[in-house]
Amino acid sequence: MPWVFGFEEADGGDKEKFGGKGANLAAMVNLALPIPPGFIITTHCCREYYKLGGKLPGGLLEEVRAKVDQLEKKTGKIFGGSKSPLLVSVRSGSKFSMPGMMDTILNLGMNDASCAALAAESGDERFALDSRRRFIQIFADVVLGVDISHFDEHIEKMKHSLGVHFDHELTAPNLRKLISQYEAVLDNHGVKIPEDPYEQIEMAIIAVFKSWNTPRAITYRNLNRIPHDLGTAVNIQTMVFGNMGDDCGTGVAFSRNKNSGAKGLFGDFLVNAQGEDVVAGIRTPVSIEKLKEVFPKQAKELDRIARMLELHYRDMQDLEFTIERGKLFILQTRSGKRSPLAQVKIAVDMVGEGLITRREALMRVDAEVMRMLLLPQIDYSKNPKPLVAGVDASPGAAKGKLAFTADEAVERALSGEKVILVRAETTPDDIHGMDAAQGILTSRGGKTSHAAVVAGQMGKPCVAGCGDMKIDERTRTIAIGGLKLTERDTITIDGTTGKVFAGEIAMIPSQIGGEFAEFLSWADAERKIKIRTNADTPKDAETAIKLGAEGIGLCRTEHMFFDEERIPLVQSMILSDTVEEREEYLAKLLDFQRDDFKGIFKAMKGYPVTIRLLDPPLHEFLPSEEAALEKVIKNFTAKIAGKSGRAESEAKLRARVKSMHEANPMLGFRGCRLGIIFPEINRMQVRAIIEAACEVEKKGQPTRVEIMIPLIGSLSELERVETELREVAETVMTEKGRNIDYLFGTMIEVPRAALTADEIAKSAEFFSFGTNDLTQMTLGISRDDAEEKFLRKYVDMGLYPVNPFAELDFAGVGKLVTMAIELGRKERPTLKVGICGEHGGNPPTVEFCYRAGMDYVSCSPFRVPTARLAAAQAVLRDMGY
Ligand code: ADP
Ligand code: MG
Ligand code: MG
Repeated sequence: MPWVFGFEEADGGDKEKFGGKGANLAAMVNLALPIPPGFIITTHCCREYYKLGGKLPGGLLEEVRAKVDQLEKKTGKIFGGSKSPLLVSVRSGSKFSMPGMMDTILNLGMNDASCAALAAESGDERFALDSRRRFIQIFADVVLGVDISHFDEHIEKMKHSLGVHFDHELTAPNLRKLISQYEAVLDNHGVKIPEDPYEQIEMAIIAVFKSWNTPRAITYRNLNRIPHDLGTAVNIQTMVFGNMGDDCGTGVAFSRNKNSGAKGLFGDFLVNAQGEDVVAGIRTPVSIEKLKEVFPKQAKELDRIARMLELHYRDMQDLEFTIERGKLFILQTRSGKRSPLAQVKIAVDMVGEGLITRREALMRVDAEVMRMLLLPQIDYSKNPKPLVAGVDASPGAAKGKLAFTADEAVERALSGEKVILVRAETTPDDIHGMDAAQGILTSRGGKTSHAAVVAGQMGKPCVAGCGDMKIDERTRTIAIGGLKLTERDTITIDGTTGKVFAGEIAMIPSQIGGEFAEFLSWADAERKIKIRTNADTPKDAETAIKLGAEGIGLCRTEHMFFDEERIPLVQSMILSDTVEEREEYLAKLLDFQRDDFKGIFKAMKGYPVTIRLLDPPLHEFLPSEEAALEKVIKNFTAKIAGKSGRAESEAKLRARVKSMHEANPMLGFRGCRLGIIFPEINRMQVRAIIEAACEVEKKGQPTRVEIMIPLIGSLSELERVETELREVAETVMTEKGRNIDYLFGTMIEVPRAALTADEIAKSAEFFSFGTNDLTQMTLGISRDDAEEKFLRKYVDMGLYPVNPFAELDFAGVGKLVTMAIELGRKERPTLKVGICGEHGGNPPTVEFCYRAGMDYVSCSPFRVPTARLAAAQAVLRDMGY
């Protein structure tokens, strides 16, 4: 089997063997496009090179020689010759694109003789010398290991002394001097570029193979989960020259606008330039619009080719092209990277054009993109310059003036100002400020920090961990670089990319209707798993329904207690000494709770609603600061004074609060344990739920109620709680003279519950996997503490492939989940199963849940569209898409 294939001999569909770049060049040659001729050394040859311990396989160089002979015949040129010299580029290219792995060597075959010939035949000595100095610096850098900075230094110095800005302003004599300086650099490093072009090509091939295993390449593959044994191909191609004068140039074109998705060519072009000059930012390129003016014929041809390639690949293409003395050549094509907006627009348009099917369109869009499109995005087509960048913690863009505390954010928002809350990090005490702000910016924390998680739930943009920003709360300023900003300054943050900008930056509005809605309706037609939402308020529930939610998978009741009017009642209830006292306060809370549930049932229009009974440790309802706590105790003492002495009751209360302190509150007195010790709390909640359902149904709207008991570890616990609560439910229904369709079930979040799921299912009518707690308890990692201290480093070091609180740990926690479902369904075939942890909106986790046979996933409202698409993609992947 040969190691080397001409472009016309290679299989354009075999990226494994020829690499992405090579396969696409072969395909374009078969489409009869204007491609400079060349050949490919296969990835198999690279693998063989490593198998031989770093030696080129026998016969390879002979094959290369034969292919060069053919190139010479085709082009009528001679490799390294002193007449009609043939020059080539040497480019690496593996199955998956690995940007930045090795710089392409241009103008190989250059030596004294060919340079002179090039000058004479082109009539342009400047061009020949420019090509030569480019070859020297790139060959030295890539093959000989002499860092390119040594050469850059000389060229910068020369431009400076001549008072010119651009490379192409250097004259032939300038370039001749520069080349002698370059040669001195080579001498100083004790290296030499061989005159013999075949020696050059051999060294270049070895350099490409070696580049496959540089530390940089290995790290890149680890990060992107690309196998290490694929190897890279080598593409050797006749040079074409965009640097021969003003009838030449080089550019990059997209077959559609990569920012907006609009149809028509889009891209950049540079007159009289070679290779990467366009992207290197040395000169400012002109747009394709301008190309149409300067090179109308070639622009038209380019457009025709772009259409043709779109038809061939059935996707938007990113092309590299060069114009040499008026003739257009294509040097590369690949699927183009595009903005979130363009992903959806192009997919929908291509279905409309009959280019792809709906199912293919669904696979083309990254599910995470759905979440991003719900919020305004920065318009990057205007090239805004960021001040600084942090962690992209919650997507979307927001602008506002700086607010330094949560209270300040609320106050200023109430007076109509738009503010961005800026904190070192956020805590639960900041939630009201986060709610009032347009977006959140923190200097500490990562993607699962408090700021990130809460902002994500609220659907607010958040940039976290912006370490280069110094906040001074005392002077109420932030310092970024040399810049100082105050409360009067406006900033724009982009939670999609983590960038922060000074002032107001142009934005693209959020996308909910139109193409976005249509696209998601296609996803709904494919998916088999239901999508619910985590919502605690009618407002969140309504938002989620608009975004396509089909139920509430987790309604947390504790958030309902924090409101200003209720919290004193809750605190008094907690501090109560006797059951009677506690019931007195609970009776008052009942009215509030009933209204809460009525609002949610109404908003959910008959969709199922899973309500979780009180879960957090009670001390979370008491203030943590001594002074505030004092006040709570004083108030309550005033109310109960008379029953016993004032001082005595105060001392008793203090002792009580003290006794509530726990070393590990997350593993302590919480969840169903509260309801077992203080059953009156649960009883009040169930009464409120059933009364609310009866009242809503009386008005003619159906309800589907699922009452969920948290933190169950054994059947005995569940039975104990459930038996007494069923009684409450039945009593209320009799009182109201109505029958409500309700279920009792449990969260599976203690590993023991998963292990004994068959037992638990004797009593539970549904399971909802609370994967936040289940992950914490299975891995023995406290989410709130771990991220900063070690978890992020763990992920960086590859000890965990991803953060297990963002994507489910399939091998460990996932195993418990599948096992629990199996055990549970064996006992109770009708068992309803879902997930309600933070993971429920993570695309790979959605796919896992679908495969595990869950009935639904539940996620925060703004993740619902992402989950809808991910659920469809899981089904389509099974079908081979
Ligand atoms: P990358 O993968 O980094 O894009 P390429 O191999 O595509 O690297 O090449 C780098 C630059 O050199 C590109 O601008 C490309 O168009 C240009 N180039 C590559 N081969 C040739 C050639 N035979 N003639 C002219 N320019 C070339
Ligand atoms: Mg390229
Ligand atoms: Mg939990």
